[in-house]
Amino acid sequence: MITGDQLLIKQINKSIVLNTIRKKGLISRADLANITGLNKSTVSSLVDELIKEGFVEEEGPGESKGGRKPIMLMINSLAGCVIGVDLDVNYILVILTDILANILWQKRINLKIGESKEDIISKMIELIDEAIKNSPDTVKGILGIGIGVPGITDYKRGVVLKAPNLNWENVELKKIVEERFSLKVYIDNEANTGAIGEKWFGGGRNAKNFVYVSAGIGIGTGIIINNELYRGSSGLAGEIGHMTIDINDHICSCGNRGCWENYASEKSLFRYIKERLEAGQEDDFIDSENIDSLDINDIAGYAELGSKLAIDAINEISKNLSVGIVNIVNTFNPDLVLIGNTLSAIGDMLIDAVKEYVREKCLVSRYNDVAIEISKLGMLERAIGAVTLVISEVFSYPGL
Ligand SMILES: [Zn+2]
Repeated sequence: MITGDQLLIKQINKSIVLNTIRKKGLISRADLANITGLNKSTVSSLVDELIKEGFVEEEGPGESKGGRKPIMLMINSLAGCVIGVDLDVNYILVILTDILANILWQKRINLKIGESKEDIISKMIELIDEAIKNSPDTVKGILGIGIGVPGITDYKRGVVLKAPNLNWENVELKKIVEERFSLKVYIDNEANTGAIGEKWFGGGRNAKNFVYVSAGIGIGTGIIINNELYRGSSGLAGEIGHMTIDINDHICSCGNRGCWENYASEKSLFRYIKERLEAGQEDDFIDSENIDSLDINDIAGYAELGSKLAIDAINEISKNLSVGIVNIVNTFNPDLVLIGNTLSAIGDMLIDAVKEYVREKCLVSRYNDVAIEISKLGMLERAIGAVTLVISEVFSYPGL
């Protein structure tokens, strides 16, 4: 008779085997046993189970180290499909991927400012419906839906507690979407999805400790400690955008004063430009007529063409972003800080300025150099992270 503990150990071993195959790409049963430390017969029976369940398949013979050529194992990426939703203040992006986060289909629609919660949710549901209709035949069908939202989220219950920029409070999003589709649904804050996406499939793959800074309309952060997302005791960790950097200044949407996101986000970049225009600054590219139709890519482009106002604004935002990053590096001593979301469109101009400031002002980085980079997955990172909420569960509990 198999006891509960034995079942648990088997489940853990199965997950280790599956994740090792994923990380290696192609691997023989013998190498799996060597790497995992499990004995060959255990590996063999777990692999048989994973093949039967459709998660793993055999590829032709690999390189032989003498003797018979071994049969190589690989993940069957089309074991199932996953849906990821990046719900932003300005748009909804829905992607359909295989279980290795390769994109099979995607669609993005823009949102108007002030759209009602009901309208936004029904548009999201329509897009998810479309993703399902576009999904190919797979062994296990759709394995789940992950949703990243721009707000404070109760991950366990799947409730959006507060999304100030959407004007949402206590929205039971998981329940609504689960009832509609009868699929497993995972909801998390968009900075957490960005971090987990970068950890599994992007620039954070080799970093044990890193902080992902989602610098968009506001600022959120996702913190990876010892290869795991740090959620805090009730899932609310990472609100570093609301770290006070000026105790006497701007009132923030959170009710506090002088929060970092009011100085170093896309919102603050545009506020800076508008204030300078109102104060009478003239520029060859930007004026009070066109400013409302420009986005961050336009500002970055004008800076490259020599717009003084765009360059000043980027310098100001880079400096302010650096102030928070110095605090992050001093607090966490990470290997890496990844800057993502819309401000990442500024690219080298932003990164070079941030690196220089951090090198000058950061105590910890004087003793332990920290890499500071633009995130690797670009504007797809939070949607990829949303599918990773599902994929990480599948790889932790294969077959359940
Ligand atoms: Zn705040």
